[in-house]
Amino acid sequence: MSDCLFCKIIAGDIPSAKVYEDEAVLAFRDIAPQAPTHILVIPKAHISGCNGVTAENSQVVAHIFEVIPQIAQAEGLENGYRVVSNCGPNAGQTVPHLHFHILGGRELTLEMA
Ligand code: 5GP
Ligand code: ZN
Repeated sequence: MSDCLFCKIIAGDIPSAKVYEDEAVLAFRDIAPQAPTHILVIPKAHISGCNGVTAENSQVVAHIFEVIPQIAQAEGLENGYRVVSNCGPNAGQTVPHLHFHILGGRELTLEMA
């Protein structure tokens, strides 16, 4: 999707602080961190959000959840962390490309951040 911010980050048209990359997944630091560690994990294939996950593309979601613990370990989040995906306007989704926030590095409240 040429007008998608995260597709532009995947393409390298917008720079990002990458923490993990493989053939299907990219992880990079959130530009406005809500916790000491705040990383976004995204599929390289454009999926609009949670509602865009289907039987045809859901394999990458399982892969993302294999990658998340590796990132958490590399970031030293042994005391725990939160994984969040906002879906739609009431949840505050601002970028319509599926992404999972990894938040950690401090004790988290029941709010997302
Ligand atoms: P959402 O609000 O859709 O759940 O999450 C989108 C996230 O993307 C926000 O936390 C926001 O700070 C982050 N973000 C927006 N634009 C950029 C950008 O250009 N680079 C990076 N690294 N993060 C961004
Ligand atoms: Zn996209």
